Amino acid sequence: MSRARVLVLHPALGPLDYRVPAGMRVAPGSIVVVPIGPRQYAGVVWEAERLPTEEIGDNRLRNIMAVADAPPIPAPVRRLVEWTADYYLSPPSAVLAMALRTSAAFESAPTITEYRATGQVPERLTPQRAQALERIGERQGLVKELALVADVSDAVIRGLVKVGAIEPVVVDTDTPYPMPDPSFAPPELNPLQADAASILRQAVGAEAFQPFLLDGVTGSGKTEVYFEAVAAAIAAGKQTLVLLPEIALTEPFLTRFEKRFGCDPVAWHSGLRTSQRRRAWRAIASGEAMVTVGARSALFLPYPNLGLIVVDEAHETSFKQEDGVHYHARDVAVMRGRFEECPVILASATPAIETRHQVELGRYEELKLPGRYGLAEMPEIVPIDLIQEPPERGRWIAPPLVKAIDETLARGEQSLLFLNRRGYAPLTLCRHCGHRFQCPNCTAWMVEHRLLRRLSCHHCGHTVPAPEICPECKSEDTLVACGPGVERIADEVAALWPEARTAIVTSDTLWSPAKAAEFVARMEHGAIDIVVGTQLVTKGYHFPNLTLVGVIDADLGLDGGDLRASERTFQQIMQVSGRAGRGEKPGTVYIQTHAPDAPVMQALITGDAESFYAAETEARRDADAPPFGRYAAIIVSSEDRAAAEETARMIGRTAPEIGEDMHVYGPAPAPLAMLRGRHRYRLLVHARRSFDVQQVLRDWLGSLAWSQKVRVAVDVDPYSF
Ligand code: ADP
Ligand code: ZN
Ligand code: ZN
Repeated sequence: MSRARVLVLHPALGPLDYRVPAGMRVAPGSIVVVPIGPRQYAGVVWEAERLPTEEIGDNRLRNIMAVADAPPIPAPVRRLVEWTADYYLSPPSAVLAMALRTSAAFESAPTITEYRATGQVPERLTPQRAQALERIGERQGLVKELALVADVSDAVIRGLVKVGAIEPVVVDTDTPYPMPDPSFAPPELNPLQADAASILRQAVGAEAFQPFLLDGVTGSGKTEVYFEAVAAAIAAGKQTLVLLPEIALTEPFLTRFEKRFGCDPVAWHSGLRTSQRRRAWRAIASGEAMVTVGARSALFLPYPNLGLIVVDEAHETSFKQEDGVHYHARDVAVMRGRFEECPVILASATPAIETRHQVELGRYEELKLPGRYGLAEMPEIVPIDLIQEPPERGRWIAPPLVKAIDETLARGEQSLLFLNRRGYAPLTLCRHCGHRFQCPNCTAWMVEHRLLRRLSCHHCGHTVPAPEICPECKSEDTLVACGPGVERIADEVAALWPEARTAIVTSDTLWSPAKAAEFVARMEHGAIDIVVGTQLVTKGYHFPNLTLVGVIDADLGLDGGDLRASERTFQQIMQVSGRAGRGEKPGTVYIQTHAPDAPVMQALITGDAESFYAAETEARRDADAPPFGRYAAIIVSSEDRAAAEETARMIGRTAPEIGEDMHVYGPAPAPLAMLRGRHRYRLLVHARRSFDVQQVLRDWLGSLAWSQKVRVAVDVDPYSF
């Protein structure tokens, strides 16, 4: 007889004990179905032991109902789930949910039925049907997936199936993925690249935990170098996971991967259809998928045979998950490497101060690529002092940058204007009465999107049609846009260079991998002269004919005033600069700023990253901020403002007296005091690095109770402090 302890996918419950019925075989990691009350839940066996019947004793113990016909969740993943739950103070079941795809584990059918348009126009073409067919286009998916893209009900889609405008297609979800070939097209590495690659190959061969920082300037060939480690893993029959910060980056990555290894890797991100997700999960869990490229959630997938983890653009803030389980994928990747006993490569041209510190402490090995590959040189960085040389009234591009764009166009080369603000203008106000358009759900202005004729909130997505009259004083023609967004810069570009072919690149325009691929193709074919973009264009792209970068407002990121502001600004501008002059033609970067003498601007201009990092690190040491001290934020939120405030105060009052090791600050209104209709208060816990702050938080918060209306979330290692 045996008993098993099962971690159930139930948000509020920890592991529970069940009886293993006679004839059923389970082991730690087995994926099972268990009853809780009248309902059934999926779960994973955490411990299983054979016991004499009398010791099982408890006859209230209920039976495990079924075992999935799927590979077990491997031990390193179970340890990772426990570690993540402990470290980030999250329910283990919420972490487990990222590893377990129940539909993939339990449905053993080798096919799934999807639907697609046949091209036939139905006789009765209602507006809804027309909308559905137009939006669906060539897409394929489950009825509910198509309904979602088309923004219609499932019934509309089913109606279209009935009249033959949409047809079922059977998709095989067990088709094997092609095998990447490690010697398909290896590059010839330059000596520095070859040294780094050989160290990485050895590390893969050693099958031991070893974190690396692959620190190479933009265009130095970091991808080519870590591909050598990937090749070594494939040759050794080991699986590799490559994490990318942004789904828009996967498409260019797939192309490069295919050139090097002869086929696509397996992709894992939130844009996958159910059928793709099921196929990928099974191939990963069975060990058949050799290389996966994925977003941060891929980190918890049950690879049985992981031999290498790469975190590309490891400095990116999108690796930090800000809801649900608040984890940092870069840090969890290193932990996974530890449990898997495999190397972890963090690749970046602008590593986070935290990562550099790990190198200084000797925990991570640094591999440096200080120069660009081939004939490409680092771009020249030229400041434009906006006080000395301001743009014309109502314009944002200063004269020296206008001149540089003129010249770039004349040479037939491409320019990129960078402004990290979507939409047309960040604020709209009435010049008659001063009314400002604010989001009803958030402490944020409504941003005008002129292309869509809408105002929308970038925090909650609340959207309204662009108003014509002031809702306050009812004046007409008194609403004015304040400040620039990328659309406004694109307007200015169109006015200055009517002949130039322009593209706006933001998450509004590049919302899918296919859109990103289309943009890349147009850039490569020279169909675009000037790109105006947000941080989305700063990442990973390689356009040899792009020689000019203009940073419209270099001071933008410095506003917040938190301790990360300079680091973030430095990283962002270095990254966008990195897009200039990546081929044989040299690049130039113009930085428009009101503070050309600020240390971060000086570091960018002189290219002296080392002194900048040293100064920033000292500032962190003085403030006892990460990577020296540590922070945890307690976010108390509720739709009821008074309830949130009261709970936050109660938590503050009960803070344990620890002395020098830990201090609690606040509560104060959180940086976004209202978000998605919830009022938010924040307590900031500051502690010594060596202090077990999680244990204290668990005991402290665990001893308190609050109203159902209030949510309390802990963010360990918050991004801003
Ligand atoms: P990074 O990731 O460091 O910015 P990439 O890996 O994108 O740099 O390399 C920049 C460009 O140089 C890419 O087009 C890449 O294919 C090319 N490149 C780098 N190293 C080599 C090499 N050894 N042989 C051929 N091309 C290379
Ligand atoms: Zn008004
Ligand atoms: Zn909002």
